[in-house]
Amino acid sequence: MPNVKNWQLGRDVAYPYPESRPKKQWAIVFDLNKCIACQTCSLACKTTWTSGKGQEYMFWNNVETKPWGGYPLAWDVRILEKLGRQDWAGNGEYLGKTLTEAAPPKEWVLHWEPTDEDWMYPNIGEDDCGGGTVDGGAHLPSLPHDKWFFYLPRTCAHCTYPACLAACPRKAIYKRDEDGIVLIDQLRCKGYGECVRACPYKKSMYNPYTRTSEKCIGCYPAVEQGMQPQCVVNCIGKIRVMGFISPPWRARADNPVDFLVHEKGLALPYYPQLGLEPNIYYIPPINADPGYLEQMFGPRVHEAVARYRALPSDPAAVGLLCLIGSTDRIIDRFEVKDGKASGYDADGKELVTVPVSEPVIERPAWDARIGAIRNNTP
Ligand code: SF4
Ligand code: SF4
Ligand code: SF4
Repeated sequence: MPNVKNWQLGRDVAYPYPESRPKKQWAIVFDLNKCIACQTCSLACKTTWTSGKGQEYMFWNNVETKPWGGYPLAWDVRILEKLGRQDWAGNGEYLGKTLTEAAPPKEWVLHWEPTDEDWMYPNIGEDDCGGGTVDGGAHLPSLPHDKWFFYLPRTCAHCTYPACLAACPRKAIYKRDEDGIVLIDQLRCKGYGECVRACPYKKSMYNPYTRTSEKCIGCYPAVEQGMQPQCVVNCIGKIRVMGFISPPWRARADNPVDFLVHEKGLALPYYPQLGLEPNIYYIPPINADPGYLEQMFGPRVHEAVARYRALPSDPAAVGLLCLIGSTDRIIDRFEVKDGKASGYDADGKELVTVPVSEPVIERPAWDARIGAIRNNTP
């Protein structure tokens, strides 16, 4: 297998095809501190793309509660267990094996296959807490209890080195040069299901009616028009921003995604140790078990949490977080100036400007006009 450069692991990895980075790479950043698991994103995707026959069980976008949730069941635990030890060096280099490096003989990637039952409980474990340590928060020492959970929204990561593409014997899966979106050619696909087995994130799904595999299409018809995907623009919590990520050696500090991932180190890929260079990035939750977070996001997670806690002293980052969710168009460049944050498209046209801090208006409890106390808890 050729060696390809994986910046998330700080080293080259083995992959069946030579390195071929697209001109632009589709990416989403999610702020996990703000997700409320309302599932609006899941339904926005479902009503747009997967309301057909054979797609009943499919959630190309799903939101699961960590640590116990998983769609399909225990997708992450199962592949992590198969992979074995996943150590990192102090300089951020990954020392373990990736999925392609741990592939069994005559296979392209280490994999497992979910059963029909594994897909049947998309919301299993919802709001179930995990134990372990949390720095701060509402823990009561006198009343031991499990202390944390967080919500993890997930789409296909349109990986730089997709396992689904590597495993497809029909070469039906391709990665577009113009935006890095990974698609399955429905005419070439014969439904062998190799991609379903190979994708560690389990974001390729089999349609028993069409007898082909299907997956998140990155909302490419919208992206081609400069619009963000359905699951992004409908996000109630305004936790998501879609844009194009550059590799670190071409990063631009005024590109929202580059800024959050490369410039500030606030957003990290999940399970980078699998070796696919996934392109969904998460601002980690600051009130969750650090060991669990390190397993999911790698050792840089502790710095990311510290930086998020220090956000009030970073006006550019605060301004950008205010821009997230304020426009349905793709922001190519942003600027924070004079207490305002502005987003511009690739032609330099202003898309939106928002104030970085909103005025806080305190209402007195006693409303003399109607002669009543207007607080719920007087
Ligand atoms: S719509 Fe946004 S806030 Fe709601 S579950 Fe999805 S990602 Fe979370
Ligand atoms: S997340 Fe899975 S389905 Fe999506 S590109 Fe990566 S390997 Fe393929
Ligand atoms: S990007 Fe589009 S297709 Fe993919 S999960 Fe979001 S809404 Fe669905």
